[in-house]
Amino acid sequence: MNMYIEGAKCIRCNKEWQISEIRYQCPTCQGNLDIAYNYKALRNNYPKTSFRQNKLYSIWRYLPFLPLKKMPERPLQLGWTPLYPVPNEYGIKLFIKDEGRNPSGSLKDRATAIVLEAAQEAGITHLTTASTGNAGSSLACLSASMGIETTVFVPDKAPEAKIAQMCIFGTRVYSVIGSYDDAYDLCIRASNLLGWYNRSTGYNPLTREGKKTCAYEICEQLDWHVPDWVIVSVGDGNILSGLWKGFKDLYGIGYIDRLPKMAGVQSFASNAIALSVRSAQNKASIDIESVQASTIADSISVNTPRDGVFAVKAILESRGMIIEVTDEKILMAIKTVAQRWGIFGEPAGVACVAGLEKLWEDGTLKSGEVVVCIITGNGLKDVGSALKASLNRVRVIASQSDLTQVLRRI
Ligand SMILES: [Zn+2]
Repeated sequence: MNMYIEGAKCIRCNKEWQISEIRYQCPTCQGNLDIAYNYKALRNNYPKTSFRQNKLYSIWRYLPFLPLKKMPERPLQLGWTPLYPVPNEYGIKLFIKDEGRNPSGSLKDRATAIVLEAAQEAGITHLTTASTGNAGSSLACLSASMGIETTVFVPDKAPEAKIAQMCIFGTRVYSVIGSYDDAYDLCIRASNLLGWYNRSTGYNPLTREGKKTCAYEICEQLDWHVPDWVIVSVGDGNILSGLWKGFKDLYGIGYIDRLPKMAGVQSFASNAIALSVRSAQNKASIDIESVQASTIADSISVNTPRDGVFAVKAILESRGMIIEVTDEKILMAIKTVAQRWGIFGEPAGVACVAGLEKLWEDGTLKSGEVVVCIITGNGLKDVGSALKASLNRVRVIASQSDLTQVLRRI
């Protein structure tokens, strides 16, 4: 493990652990764990200026800040996804981070890469994960060339393209007749029973460590300036918590002098984090609410968020917002993002843009503010939703007379 790691702290009971004492959750209270680094030593040995000479444009440029011993020999391009400045009607400086450009088409690759490399360093040969779809396709994709066996548990209704990704990369897929939460619990049972290393989001503390690299990139790509707002969709809460961890790392090390406000976006049809944020505002402790999730945005369709406490803390600590939008607004955002900026996002990916519209409408955003929206997954993963958003094709017989008739109707 990385020599700059000091230990791990439980997010729920605050108990501190040596790395050798933990595997997944807090042994005392089963809260999720947060890995702690020696920021002072990192600051002394890796000044911010050292990145100017670093020509490794992937997540591995941040190796000293990751829970790994050595540089992996990875053939796939991971991270350093584009951060596009895009025009908008709000008078803000808007940037879109396109995470669909990762190897399996989603931000989940950042987490998977760290878990897989750590597993390989430990000599582990079989990994498993629960997934709404993207974590599974990510694990299948990144493990394919590493000689590591994988087994994925997904809800039966996961989009076919994601299932196809898992199958073609050679993972064993169990389609669980039930929800993501059912798949999650079954995956933990299987890993306990068979000794497989479990990558499941939040449960494995290394997932947050991979996702934090997205925050590192945002700051570095903005020449170490900090955005006023970072907007991202929320399901389990692990992406939001990973981003917040990344910004706090950079602040702790001294690379940045302030922190952004974090805005999480949920569908009204899967809003457990929103309910939890509201109930936490009047209490000292954070209790995670459960819902019966049914949103079309499958990647954020979660009954009980598995990294919810950290995500709620991210919103409260950053003085950010939780935003709820309708599924109809999410479908409209697929079209907006594609037709205005040339980026194809899946429903959960573009939900941030639906949230951005709402933040503007309620007067929260101020003119001139720097805002980053993160498109977390590629639209080709769920073409069914894209077709619902914009089915505008015209069928035509291959003859000139028919074409002429069709053209007259325009
Ligand atoms: Zn604990």
